[in-house]
Amino acid sequence: MRAFEAVNLYFQRAADQIELPDEMRELLMMAVREVQVQIPVDMDDGRLATFVGYRVQHNRARGPMKGGLRYHPEVDLDEVRSLASLMTWKTAVVNLPYGGAKGGVAVDARKLSVIELERVTRRFVDEIHDVIGPDTDIPAPDMGTDHRVMAWIMNQYGKYHGFNPGVVTGKPAEYYGIPGREEAPGRGVGLLTVKLLQRLKWKSKEATIAIQGFGTVGSHAAKFLHEAGCRVLAISDATGAYYRQEGIDVPGAIRYSLQHDHLLSGYPDAELITNAALLESDVDVLVPAAIGGVISAENAPRIKAPIIVEAANSPTQPEADDILVKGGKTVLPDVLANAGGVTVSYFEWAQNRQFYQWNLDRVRGELDRTLTSAFEEIWDLAREHKVTLRTAAFILGISRVARATELSGLA
Ligand code: NAD
Repeated sequence: MRAFEAVNLYFQRAADQIELPDEMRELLMMAVREVQVQIPVDMDDGRLATFVGYRVQHNRARGPMKGGLRYHPEVDLDEVRSLASLMTWKTAVVNLPYGGAKGGVAVDARKLSVIELERVTRRFVDEIHDVIGPDTDIPAPDMGTDHRVMAWIMNQYGKYHGFNPGVVTGKPAEYYGIPGREEAPGRGVGLLTVKLLQRLKWKSKEATIAIQGFGTVGSHAAKFLHEAGCRVLAISDATGAYYRQEGIDVPGAIRYSLQHDHLLSGYPDAELITNAALLESDVDVLVPAAIGGVISAENAPRIKAPIIVEAANSPTQPEADDILVKGGKTVLPDVLANAGGVTVSYFEWAQNRQFYQWNLDRVRGELDRTLTSAFEEIWDLAREHKVTLRTAAFILGISRVARATELSGLA
């Protein structure tokens, strides 16, 4: 099943629960606008390379569209479309005044020099500057992009439209960013994992964890859970997975990765296993925090963890989700689990509009409050409708977007 089809399957399940009319379903599933652009760039070796970039604006019923920008060789229109749609439901789940969008460039950012990365980014902005903006569509980081890329976007956009830091979030803290944005999606994953464990009457201090992906999201989730007293038994990245029965020294692994170009390759204090084995490891909580589609119908029957927290977007294919649910497992869905990122992006945007600086305590406090409130609402909805947490999250998101659409009128 293609990624966009998968999101729409979850959409339809929730829409059935609230008996959403067919014409509203058609309107809400379709993107408002889809842009595909050519990005020709002079490479350092004198070659001309041409990349493809996308920006899909899915829904604007609740406010300016919001969503990350992914640089990855497998980015295509279907993937960006599915991620844009997820952003619509995610921003509504956490009740931010935003719609949903997503963008991407089909490029392996790790193979580019810093100056090539900057050229790709600036040229991409040249092509899309007229459809983004602080009141229309606000990009943010995702896989393969970071605070530097966001700073270049702000600067390049400013050349066309004047100085406006609110056009993009996830900027460096000392350049119109906000403290705590980088840690936010991983911290949110950690926070919600602990809340879920408490609800299921597990002691978080005894919980064992495996985390796939050790980038922005995975490493901060590992840090939070380690500090909360959980035992992180396995971590991984694209170079392999690392397992230690007594628990990984998470601060040590983070230091190692920072010293080795953000990679765990050669990490000495654990046993090297495969990413496939990590997914099937005998732990209490499995946290996929890398690419999409890693839990499939093929490996789902072998997943041992009773709790899966979707830190990545769309890590579970729908057929696999059904297998996990039938097997009595609890899945905390991406639209809630990783919503900490867009939540702190919202704080950054609000701060930019006021030219005011929030401090880290305030960011963390507001993040905790926002995610806790969404978690409680979804937990109660799941009980009320006797559905999974995923369907409950979609019910919450879809209801809010449908209501805003009705209230605004279509004319
Ligand atoms: P990142 O680029 O910082 O890190 C990605 C990590 O995944 C790296 O450690 C990389 O080595 C690893 N990885 C890549 N391919 C892999 C593979 N085949 N097997 C195992 N590991 C692999 O990306 P990120 O920002 O941490 O994003 C991770 C996920 O979280 C994505 O699905 C993204 O959409 C989602 N997300 C990110 C944010 C954000 O603000 N960065 C917010 C919400 C959701």
